[in-house]
Amino acid sequence: MEVANFINGQKVRNGQTLMDVVSPLDGSIISNMPLSSSKEVDQAVEAAKNAFPAWSGMTIKERVQVFFKYRQLLEENIEELTQLVHVENGKTMGEARAEVLKSIELCEFAVSMPQIVTNEIQEVSKGVECRIERKPLGVVACITPFNFPNMVPHWTVPNALVLGNTVILKPSELVPLSAQRMGELLKEAGLPDGVFNIVNGGKDVVEAICDHPEIKATSFVGSTRVAKIVYKRSSNNLQRCVALGGAKNHLLVLPDAHVDMTANNVVASMAGCAGQRCMAASVMVGVDRVQHIIDRMVEEAKAIVPGDNLGSVISKEAKERIERYITEAEAQGAKILIDGRNATVPGKEGGFYVGPTIIDYVKPDMAVAKEEIFGPVISIIRAKDLDEAIQIENSSNYGNAAAVFTQSGGLAKKVMEGASAGMIGVNIGVPVPREPFSFGGWNESKFGVGDITGKSSIEFWTQNKKTTTKWNPEDKRDWMS
Ligand code: NAD
Repeated sequence: MEVANFINGQKVRNGQTLMDVVSPLDGSIISNMPLSSSKEVDQAVEAAKNAFPAWSGMTIKERVQVFFKYRQLLEENIEELTQLVHVENGKTMGEARAEVLKSIELCEFAVSMPQIVTNEIQEVSKGVECRIERKPLGVVACITPFNFPNMVPHWTVPNALVLGNTVILKPSELVPLSAQRMGELLKEAGLPDGVFNIVNGGKDVVEAICDHPEIKATSFVGSTRVAKIVYKRSSNNLQRCVALGGAKNHLLVLPDAHVDMTANNVVASMAGCAGQRCMAASVMVGVDRVQHIIDRMVEEAKAIVPGDNLGSVISKEAKERIERYITEAEAQGAKILIDGRNATVPGKEGGFYVGPTIIDYVKPDMAVAKEEIFGPVISIIRAKDLDEAIQIENSSNYGNAAAVFTQSGGLAKKVMEGASAGMIGVNIGVPVPREPFSFGGWNESKFGVGDITGKSSIEFWTQNKKTTTKWNPEDKRDWMS
């Protein structure tokens, strides 16, 4: 599939420099995509601006009709969309399918908007009414990362569109294929030209979006380093911005936790999507005597095989970075219980694989305890009690997710209250809130007000218009006159 920009309903290439799109499954080149510049962002903004009056002028009930059809198209094309995610991102077919199913759920929330966004009206004094209506912002932009090529664009695009905005999507340059299909299927579902546009590229496109005077709001999902750049740059240009960053999620495991369920959940959270989830378990804090659970985790991890039930990581650089972290931890005295370095898959020697890795006796000041590794690696820190475990969790710069595994409601509550993270799990390793509950972290895992999905996104993608009317004919004077 050739990747082009999608502007005003047309696939366009302007003779830009092309970048190879590589499948991390085997290192093969599967496509190439244009590295665009501010010129293409200008063209997309122009198209989105022209489409805005007609699109925002429709009722919300009319706008969601496109998404009823689009949701159906996602279902009809699920095998192809799953395959695309698998090939461009490297996750397993099962994980890729789950991602597309999540996109379908996100569309279901978007089509429910007419039931939620009903506006407010009250007669505030006799004959005088105040009303609040949610109005779209105008042209808005969404910038997305490589790890969920199908789902993360669906966190923002359907809601922003249904609420009446016109959108420019800048997908990760590593995974442009799923986004391209999204453009095609939205068109097939009846979305008018110019309402949704895609500009492919890297840093230059992101900077042009942040600097553009006609873009009213930008959402960003990616690493904390870039989230900070985007948040500052876009806010400096007086855009509304929410920027989700990286993570270092702690799972606190207590000795009374259910052994099989806990071991299974911790390992699945660490290794699922090859650890390339912002909700992945990265540190396990073992409280007091949890050796029996760690032994069970090692058994679970042994059943995870790269190329079979474990996908690849995104690139050669990612594989090297992850392996460097493991080597450094070992040199600093940590104990590698299961070692995923140098993994290869027969017949896919050009692919980028790291096996599941469990590192025990990690100290809180080691890099593997503090930095985002973004691979199928978990660091175990031993803590003497729950207070120390919570203090270790609290010391992280990040704050996306945290979870506790225990059978004690009282101890679970202590973690629910004490953890410094936006999304908390109790006996759940990947505590992603499902629609209509919103998704978003704390600390350096998110910059800006509100969350990115669910009800919170309604605030982000709209502005309130407050209208006061007086239709009583008598000349009644009061403090409002
Ligand atoms: P990334 O920050 O490298 O890239 C994200 C986007 O920013 C891409 O579209 C990329 O083209 C652009 N970009 C990259 N460098 C840039 C620069 N210097 N200036 C401007 N734009 C730039 O992230 P990634 O590697 O694609 O994704 C993985 C990261 O995303 C991880 O840190 C992960 O935790 C995070 N993530 C967070 C969430 C969340 O909800 N908090 C969800 C998914 C992924």
